[in-house]
Amino acid sequence: MRRGYREHPSNARYTRPALALTLLNNEDTVYETFSKQWHSEVRSYALLFVALTACTRQQRPVVLAPMRMETPDTSAAAPSARSVFDTQRDDPFATTNRIDWPGPNRYRSSSGSPGPDYWQQRADYTIAATLDTSTTELTGSVEIKYTNNSPYTLRYVWVQVDQNLYRNGSKGSALFPADSRWGVRGFEGGYKFSDVRANGASVRPRINDTMMRLDLPSPLLPRGGKATISIRYSFKVPEHGSDRMGRDSALYEIAQWYPRMAVYDDVRGWNTDPYLGQGEFYLEFGDFDYSVTAPAGYVIAGSGVLQNPDEVLTSEQRRRLSTASQSSDVIQIITQSEAAAAKTQLKPGARTWRFRARNVHDVAWAGAPDFRWDATSWSGIQTQAYYEFPKAGKAWEQAAEQTQWTIRQYSQLFFPYPYPQATSVAGPVGGMEYPMFVMVGYGTDDPTSIFGTINHEHGHEWFPMIVGSNERRYAWMDEGFNTYLNAFANEARYPGQTAYPGYLRNWGDVVTRGTQSPLMTAPDNIDPNALGAIGYRKPALVLLTLRNHVVGPDFFDSAFREYIRTWAFKHPAPGDFFRSIENSTGEDLSWFWHSFFYTTDVLDIGIDSVSTRTSEGQKYATIALHRFTSIPFPVRLRVAYADRTTQDFSLPVNIWARGNRFDAVIPVRANVTGVRLWADPSVPDWNPSNDTWGTPPPANPPGPVTRQ
Ligand SMILES: [Zn+2]
Repeated sequence: MRRGYREHPSNARYTRPALALTLLNNEDTVYETFSKQWHSEVRSYALLFVALTACTRQQRPVVLAPMRMETPDTSAAAPSARSVFDTQRDDPFATTNRIDWPGPNRYRSSSGSPGPDYWQQRADYTIAATLDTSTTELTGSVEIKYTNNSPYTLRYVWVQVDQNLYRNGSKGSALFPADSRWGVRGFEGGYKFSDVRANGASVRPRINDTMMRLDLPSPLLPRGGKATISIRYSFKVPEHGSDRMGRDSALYEIAQWYPRMAVYDDVRGWNTDPYLGQGEFYLEFGDFDYSVTAPAGYVIAGSGVLQNPDEVLTSEQRRRLSTASQSSDVIQIITQSEAAAAKTQLKPGARTWRFRARNVHDVAWAGAPDFRWDATSWSGIQTQAYYEFPKAGKAWEQAAEQTQWTIRQYSQLFFPYPYPQATSVAGPVGGMEYPMFVMVGYGTDDPTSIFGTINHEHGHEWFPMIVGSNERRYAWMDEGFNTYLNAFANEARYPGQTAYPGYLRNWGDVVTRGTQSPLMTAPDNIDPNALGAIGYRKPALVLLTLRNHVVGPDFFDSAFREYIRTWAFKHPAPGDFFRSIENSTGEDLSWFWHSFFYTTDVLDIGIDSVSTRTSEGQKYATIALHRFTSIPFPVRLRVAYADRTTQDFSLPVNIWARGNRFDAVIPVRANVTGVRLWADPSVPDWNPSNDTWGTPPPANPPGPVTRQ
């Protein structure tokens, strides 16, 4: 899903947070679209960065063992009346409330990998659908071969019927304002079912909002038992499908378009959280064979691989596609003049497009009579762009290359893209992801704007398409992880630029406004005005913080890759991620998960005072550190001496285990004239005013946050 769309209420006052790294004053939407202004600001920032790096010598910090001095009475410490700044509200090192940490057990191991008895269900789909553009109705039939790999007998199953969001009185239509991004805009639709069967026997569906329960005619046996569910259905295609599907004139973007199996897992049993709009999806892996019958002049783009090119493409189009499959250059499959001609020369009748997608948990597609179609490839993966010109501007001519670049970049950095193709379609949906297929808003005619969304949406191929976590409960495992990936792409595609200050400022905004909630909050329960911060940017930022300032890039990068590899095509829960990272990096990070995922606190550590004394010829500085919130953090100090030299020191997080004050006693080579916390300015300390003492030494210049 696209970031930062409609996040700011029009009357929201922008308050600049006092975060140390607030370098850019870019609004969310501006950031989202990489506006020209953003770029000019970033360019000046980049120049500053290049200039400063050239003249600053990096120092290796001295790592100190934890030391404990007599600590002053902290009972009088009341730095703020705001509850989020309460100190010692609870023990940040206590074992986190592990309701989201199932296991460890035979299914999910203590090391964060799937256990020896890990199981997940399988759903293989055969779908045949017909799009009637005169009635804007889609009619279809689906056959689901469902495999019960669990150790339990099932007597009923739950099926997701997402189109019921558009039924009058749906939960989602009540929760989200009708004119909002997730609102139904007054549209009344929903599924009509005509024939629902399980193992051939007619079944009476029982519907609970967007979930449908089917009682099986006979028990579905454990460990491999199979059931076949078949459903005939139809629904009217909404113009605005809650920004996840929809249509615009002759263009249709179709998703949530067939009854989909709900996930039955070892964590929660049946995952029946309804589709309300803001929360995304949680689906079972399997193979899909699907066909779309549309007016004869339509071109259909979809998840998976086209199975009948001979029937639906011209020989010239097939020849061009064959060239594109061998080429890293962009080849036009349907040119602008061909697309324009197709629009005016509508063909009678209908045509059926057949696709196959393997090892995915969903499929989606789009159709229009006048698509331009570009394709190229990388490493045997075909990357494609479909767009109506000029609704999608000239910048879309770069979309196939941008898709190719994105797939290559994330394949090389994180996990090889496992699918044969990747498609980007321009349309009214602002940004939405499906396996091998993403919908991207027409956008401005700015290639960097289009790239921002293409790169984000295809980043979702890693989360949640490959690593199939529960998006409906944990936005941070989906949007958050993806936004973390996007930081790497941004810095690689545009050297000298970084998305980090935008992430930090966005988090600061929701702290200031009081609209934030812990990252563990289910997305439907997050304030829509804070979704960009809590679902996307704060989780990306805290992962970068963990990487750069807690465990180090070397440990974190391999740990993150290991997590992806271990959970590819599976259903990890939050605890699996936490355990996986702890095991890979060799750190107990309870305090980190607790602080940044389970509370809304911010990091605020300061320096109260500094004194120097001499003992047996050795000078010692006592630096009185003060933690103003519940969040502990490893401390980095840069000390300045009278001779203008500096020295860096590092203290482990353990210094905060027993209180919120710590006197660090460190050997120094001369009298200390100044001290600075966080020589690296990308530590997200909320309040920079207490981070220095005396005449502080300079901080490092801001720089990229995804470097090794
Ligand atoms: Zn997204």
